[in-house]
Amino acid sequence: MGSVNADLVVSVDRRPAPGETVLGSDLATYPGGKGANQAVAAARLGARTAILGRIGDDGHGDLLRAALSEAGVDLGHLLVTPGPSGVALITLDPDGDNSIIVSPGANARLAPSDVDAELLSAAVVSFQLEIPLPTVEAAARAADAGGARVVLNLSPARAVPDDLLALCDPLVVNEHEAAYLLGAGDEPEAMATALLARGPRSVVITLGAEGALTADATGVTAVPSPKVEAVDTTGAGDAFTAALCLRLARGDTLADAARYAVRVGAAAVRKPGAQSSYPATDEDLPV
Ligand code: ATP
Repeated sequence: MGSVNADLVVSVDRRPAPGETVLGSDLATYPGGKGANQAVAAARLGARTAILGRIGDDGHGDLLRAALSEAGVDLGHLLVTPGPSGVALITLDPDGDNSIIVSPGANARLAPSDVDAELLSAAVVSFQLEIPLPTVEAAARAADAGGARVVLNLSPARAVPDDLLALCDPLVVNEHEAAYLLGAGDEPEAMATALLARGPRSVVITLGAEGALTADATGVTAVPSPKVEAVDTTGAGDAFTAALCLRLARGDTLADAARYAVRVGAAAVRKPGAQSSYPATDEDLPV
């Protein structure tokens, strides 16, 4: 459950200063949004996947629907709002630095009343924070009450109530998001332990090229990532989370699910883009 955005990307020699106009490349439009990225990644790897989200009734909505459908995601709960779909306006400079403006569009209209019974029949429901927080809270409570496992990716980082944290199994954060929640950075092991003490049932911290750490009642486990040549890390976190959810749904332990997820995250950094970089079979995964 989460955001569905069109990523509008223009490459520039340098990003404009305030008041300045610069010429850029042709516009490239890619399907994105954390919810859609995770759904596409999971479906491509063979998980039976549905998305609960909102798109607009514009041309971007058509593109976003087509990308999800092509990956095999069930669209029965993809709702349409009159008006614009969510977009991310991205300028990319030659150093690979970017500036991004996200206009939530239809994502902002995903409401607690949109949460329906089908959600409760899932083994795992994954959430991120590009949709309204009250909607995430209502849906996570409903999913947990219905027996689904709640996975929350705290991205973009924001404060969340303790009763939402308490449902997370796991809470998935990168190092920046972990430091944001804890109020200060620390060694990853110490942050994992401190985050677990905040109340989630389990925690995963992703560490980029270093892989990930899991923390639950059995302790803290380091999960190294395969070494790959990184071309573009966009959407690697979403690929990781999708793969984690897939394996948790199939009954893996958290550490075993993370051992698979780092391979999927590493596969996603070998190719440009987000959804375009996601592997289609386990044979494509680095070891
Ligand atoms: P993003 O915001 O770029 O989608 P993130 O900050 O949420 O990512 P990361 O910790 O950067 O998350 O990456 C998620 C996972 O992707 C890592 O746990 C790892 O498995 C894989 N990964 C990311 N970068 C690399 C890399 N350079 N080499 C190998 N694996 C990587």
